[in-house]
Amino acid sequence: MDLVQKEHERLWKRVKSSKTINDVQKTIDLLQAARDTISVDPTKAPTTLAKLQNPVKTSFDAINDDLKETYSGLNKYTKALDKLFKDRPLPSIEYDALSSQPDLINRAIVMHLLREGQFSVATTFLSEISNKKLPAQSGNVEPNCNKGAEAFAIDQFQSDGIRDQFTIMYHILHQLREESNLIPAIHWARQNREALESRGSNLEFELCRLQFVWLFRGRKEQKASVSGRQAALEYARSDFQAFVPRYLNEVQQLVGAMAFYPNLDDSPYRAIFNNPSAWKDVAHTFTREFCSLLGLSADSPLYIAATAGAIALPTLLKLQTIMKAKRTEWTSQNELPVEIPLPPSYLFHSIFVCPVSKEQATDQNPPMMMPCGHVIAQESLNRLSKSGKLKCPYCPNESQPRDARKVFL
Ligand SMILES: [Zn+2]
Repeated sequence: MDLVQKEHERLWKRVKSSKTINDVQKTIDLLQAARDTISVDPTKAPTTLAKLQNPVKTSFDAINDDLKETYSGLNKYTKALDKLFKDRPLPSIEYDALSSQPDLINRAIVMHLLREGQFSVATTFLSEISNKKLPAQSGNVEPNCNKGAEAFAIDQFQSDGIRDQFTIMYHILHQLREESNLIPAIHWARQNREALESRGSNLEFELCRLQFVWLFRGRKEQKASVSGRQAALEYARSDFQAFVPRYLNEVQQLVGAMAFYPNLDDSPYRAIFNNPSAWKDVAHTFTREFCSLLGLSADSPLYIAATAGAIALPTLLKLQTIMKAKRTEWTSQNELPVEIPLPPSYLFHSIFVCPVSKEQATDQNPPMMMPCGHVIAQESLNRLSKSGKLKCPYCPNESQPRDARKVFL
């Protein structure tokens, strides 16, 4: 990696200190001067052109020399890159689990594009996969199977109105981010108040609070003006009533901050009024809540899967090399033979390892809690049950196997 960094720096320096642009500019200046001379007095054309010959040739040579230098730097850099990232086959190249599920993969890609707001790319992608499938279907043994899955992807796209929903989401986000306009987002949150509240979401209040701060600060975003304070106060009077039962403290803080307006930055309310990430945070919360009401996660599953895969790839490559050297095979079906640490945001549920069998719990072998509160895996529980009785391996408690409850982590 060091070598690549060094070459990159060298190349960067070379490009920055390059005289190429000056040399090109010099040539242009020469030509322009000659043109001006000729346009003023056309009779001077032959002499001007003759005079031009040598200097133009010199400056072209200079440009070519500069280019040579840039090319050689670029070459060295690409070589360093090639050396670092050798063309190695990816793991599982013998067995490609994804190739048997093209429809699911296509669907994941379409959904990803829609969620990213790449509507026209998604439309092109959909039309291309359906074009590709049509000729294949005529010779396919199971044409219905393909057609069904494809229709499913397009149904999702059209009839479910996912695209329309994401169009709305991007419109609101655009207003919020680019125009500092919170009104469409507040309107949406108000329309979905019940669903948001049942999720315990604070979105509507967060949006309205930011609207209050934005009004308070005034359009210039700098000093709080009289008109800004007045507008904020009026906004609080008309819109905050509904929030009082649940957000009394927060509303009091906002209104209380008014008394500190000449030196808000030294007041206890500084954090509310001077939060540089407030707009970003509220946009993020809005995206998360909008997706969750559609039954989707805040981040695209394809993005998460690809990123997690990229993090895991070096470990898997190493594992493959070791397995080849030792001539062993990867035998466990649903489990990776090595630990692959992922960042906390990539851990979606806790992992339970049965203390009896030392096996990781799965959907087929879930963790079960006995009435005494101890938890073991289903298979261990079955093994320990004798004639309708179950003795806990960790305490003297005895119970019936059917009293054990499945634990969701
Ligand atoms: Zn117990």
